[in-house]
Amino acid sequence: MHVLVLGGTTEARRLAGLLVETAPAGARVTSSLAGRVAGPRLPPGEVRIGGFGGADGLAAWLRTHRVDALIDATHPFAGTISFNAAAAAAATHVPLLALRRPGWVPGDGDDWHPVDSLAGAAAALPALGRRVFLTTGRMGIAAFAGSDPLWFLMRSVDAPDPGTPCPARMEVLLDRGPFTLEGERRLIDRHRIDVLVTKDSGGDATAPKLTAAREAGIPVVVVRRPPVPPGVPVVGAPEPAVAWLREQPTVHWP
Ligand code: NAP
Repeated sequence: MHVLVLGGTTEARRLAGLLVETAPAGARVTSSLAGRVAGPRLPPGEVRIGGFGGADGLAAWLRTHRVDALIDATHPFAGTISFNAAAAAAATHVPLLALRRPGWVPGDGDDWHPVDSLAGAAAALPALGRRVFLTTGRMGIAAFAGSDPLWFLMRSVDAPDPGTPCPARMEVLLDRGPFTLEGERRLIDRHRIDVLVTKDSGGDATAPKLTAAREAGIPVVVVRRPPVPPGVPVVGAPEPAVAWLREQPTVHWP
């Protein structure tokens, strides 16, 4: 038996741990990482790093490594790899599951402004504030490059690549979650933040910024998730993903 987990998330690491714990003798659990982050937290089991070369490359990998089940536990905003996984699974008849942590839901006192893209977020900002706490990651920073005269506190795991178009007025804060409510309050206060931008990533590790924004009475621009590819079953946590694996007729997982 060989299970491939497309990873890069906390849930993917937890899932790999559960699979390694429950694996029958001789079974393989491989996690795949894109290789975007320098010094990633590695999951238990085998790990491979780097792109496959599109849907065809992933399909070839599934065949060559005799993969019996594929679990796409990538970040809800990693849309390309999820569609590649759907195409590769269909081409190879390997059963595919998507593991997506649930999205966030606004509560009383929240002032959320949903948008469909980073470009939509950039367009919404001038009407909402001047000093922006930007938490959408370094990869899409170019969407905010023309946002003069707004000021940005841009928090990300790694710095933007040299040469990437960035906002003219920006401070980069390199940090990786989980974040605390106290820490998020301090950032908002110290930098006189008046608007927060986030993806609807879901999960607890980065949710305290939403509470801190609510307490501070500042608006939050929330980028909606891209859809899961049609026809792919979805679970919200690692445990049901293991249950799904056990239900697959071609997989013998105890
Ligand atoms: P993406 O746009 O969906 O993928 C771009 C390309 O990166 C894919 O076509 C694939 O290259 C490669 N790739 C992505 N995930 C991979 C994986 N797990 N294993 C091997 N190759 C992978 O993804 P992204 O938004 O750049 O995110 C990259 C990774 O970072 C994902 O694994 C995701 O879980 C993690 N992540 C993303 C975010 C986010 O906000 N997007 C946040 C936290 C973590 P090939 O076509 O060559 O196979």
